[in-house]
Amino acid sequence: MSGKVAKAGGHAGAGDLLALVRSGRATTRGALQQATGLSRATVGQRLDRLFRAGWLREGAGGPVDSPLGGRPSITLEFDDDHAVVLAADLDTRHARAAVLSLTGEIQAEHSGPLAVEDGPDAVLDRLGRWFAALLEKTGRRADAVCGIGLAVPGPVDTDTGRVVQPPIMPGWDGYDIRVRLARAFAEHADGSADTPVLVDNDANLMAYGEQRAGYPDCTAFALVKVSTGIGAGVVVGGTIYRGIDGGAGDIGHIRVPDGSDALCRCGAYGCLAAVASGGAVARRLAGAGVPAASGSDVRDLLTAGHPEAAALAREAGRRVGEVLATVVTLLNPGVLMIAGDLAGTPFLTGVRELLYQRALPRSTAHLEVVTARLGERAALVGAGALVVEHLYGPERAEERLAALGV
Ligand SMILES: [Zn+2]
Repeated sequence: MSGKVAKAGGHAGAGDLLALVRSGRATTRGALQQATGLSRATVGQRLDRLFRAGWLREGAGGPVDSPLGGRPSITLEFDDDHAVVLAADLDTRHARAAVLSLTGEIQAEHSGPLAVEDGPDAVLDRLGRWFAALLEKTGRRADAVCGIGLAVPGPVDTDTGRVVQPPIMPGWDGYDIRVRLARAFAEHADGSADTPVLVDNDANLMAYGEQRAGYPDCTAFALVKVSTGIGAGVVVGGTIYRGIDGGAGDIGHIRVPDGSDALCRCGAYGCLAAVASGGAVARRLAGAGVPAASGSDVRDLLTAGHPEAAALAREAGRRVGEVLATVVTLLNPGVLMIAGDLAGTPFLTGVRELLYQRALPRSTAHLEVVTARLGERAALVGAGALVVEHLYGPERAEERLAALGV
């Protein structure tokens, strides 16, 4: 949500008015005057800038009663058709990309094999090609793209958009993803090489997408993604909580008891991801003669009701649940969502067994433990929303209006 409240006392700018309209808190000129304390003339001037930029339009609903009395007022709404967002979600072996509307509807989508281990140059170039083809499908021009959002399976320094020592992204450490992806977009789609690119961890963006779509009133929301690795995203007060170094939620590399002989992809022994991820379950299955090499293979086996896969997923759920007891006690979230390849009844059952046994009743009394709703599209939707909230948030909106010369 666009959290910032317009400042009282006449200092609210066009970006603040936009935030009020977008959030639905004030959608007429009268309501904007009341919310900001600005005069009718000043509200009019600021709205004119937003109309000239094409960001705001008069609503189709017709006039409504003005809160200040007098003439009924025309409702205002965010023009969600004046631009589009590009988003991509990189997994270790495949990726998904889409063109999204500013309100998050997917307008064109593509998914296919794409290996992060091929390195950032090749992968980001390919994404540029995908974006070009997707844009062509929607009939939108490259100059309609306001920004690009990218979800990656590793820890991200969101100030620079670079991944930091990612255990499962060889060759990506410190790479300038923003510049390379904007260049790939420019080369293949004939877009601007200055297009803003936002990069974030996939679990963060899944949490953001799912919270906004399904639990907008939940002020403390946690999501755990269990696929090839294990990661978590936390959304507090409608904002992704990243911690001071972007390390919040990186629970996959917590050392767990009895896991000391399991080598993790990060190079250490005994990490939670080494004993309870989709990859770990796949290795156990392969050891028992069941063909499985990755989290997605395990997902297919679970879908088919494979009994050994189900038993191992439940055991993995118990191990993750033990760590989640601490997470839940610390955060006291309203919703704990389980997502990723292992998300399903056996894993969830295992999580619940340990969670309710280990966490204090007070921190689980109102907790909903649920599976994902947006499923495979959660990170895409979250990445798109992150870009829109960034670009149309009060501060950035002012800068962009100035740059547009309106
Ligand atoms: Zn590890």
